[in-house]
Amino acid sequence: MPFDPERYSRQVRFTPLGAAGQERLAAACVAVVGCGALGSVVAMTLVRAGIGRMRIIDRDVPEASNLPRQFLFDEADVAARLPKAVAAARHLERINGACAIEPIVADLTAVNVTRMLSGVDLLVDGTDNFEARFLVNEFACREGIPWVHGGAIGAEGRVLSVLPGTTACLRCLIPEAPAPGALPTCDTAGVLGPAALVVGAVEAAEAIKILAGQHERVGNRLLVCDLWDNLWRSVDLAPLAVRGCPTCREGDFPWLEGRAGTQATVLCGRDAVQVAPTAGAALELGALATRMAGVGTVVANPWIVRVTVEEGIELAVFADGRTIVSGTRDEARARALVARYVGN
Ligand SMILES: [Zn+2]
Repeated sequence: MPFDPERYSRQVRFTPLGAAGQERLAAACVAVVGCGALGSVVAMTLVRAGIGRMRIIDRDVPEASNLPRQFLFDEADVAARLPKAVAAARHLERINGACAIEPIVADLTAVNVTRMLSGVDLLVDGTDNFEARFLVNEFACREGIPWVHGGAIGAEGRVLSVLPGTTACLRCLIPEAPAPGALPTCDTAGVLGPAALVVGAVEAAEAIKILAGQHERVGNRLLVCDLWDNLWRSVDLAPLAVRGCPTCREGDFPWLEGRAGTQATVLCGRDAVQVAPTAGAALELGALATRMAGVGTVVANPWIVRVTVEEGIELAVFADGRTIVSGTRDEARARALVARYVGN
């Protein structure tokens, strides 16, 4: 695959990449799953680096509260209410016209994951929830496709590169996905732009190494950083291999097969969608109510926590893990709201 030698001269002069590595980038296809804070940085960095093709999958539209950390978008995108995948593609095409960008406006689920993610050389995590990450992890392990996981919350970040069959996978690191509502999210705990920039940049660097064929540069490690406390460390994951892994070692794929995850249902005769965990879950409502207090006025009892998160949108979270999102009949939007405010 030819590339413009002048445009990429400074990357080619970096000898560990060289012309051979640049050629591999130009021939590569990457899927960026989720184009918010992390996805923006990764997509922009890889398109600038001369990737050949990129698929961008996102279910959301840009909002003003995204702009401090979602670096691809601007006020005109917020005003236009274009889906993030489409707005991102327009910006990226202006950055590099030689890169073929395929925007997909969709909610990644067990039903569509194979169609969405097939035919790429690498998957990059730009999502904000564990449900999507476990789906991507299982798809990557089943198909033998490398993927790069990243996460940022507050001023903290973490990055894990997964080379199926060689390094630890996400389930090696997190054997049981957290129950819905068990952890803070960026929308309840906040997040700083620099944390997204750092995590997105590290994800992009990992992607470039993998696509250039230099898997030995990736290692079997989890990077953890905290920009507020100036903490940087990298954790060796080789010891995890001792305890085995149902997914990457034994081929167990509960998320791909719909045995784990959530299901969204429009409630008959109501302007509401129910998002329920497939397997059921016991939820600690008291802690959730405390985390939600910064979002809006919380009304809580031992069975339900209610909070109005946006104008006209109320979430009612039940102790069995279900959430009823009132004010929409759009399943993808309801799932996005639950991922943002409850966490799944
Ligand atoms: Zn594993």
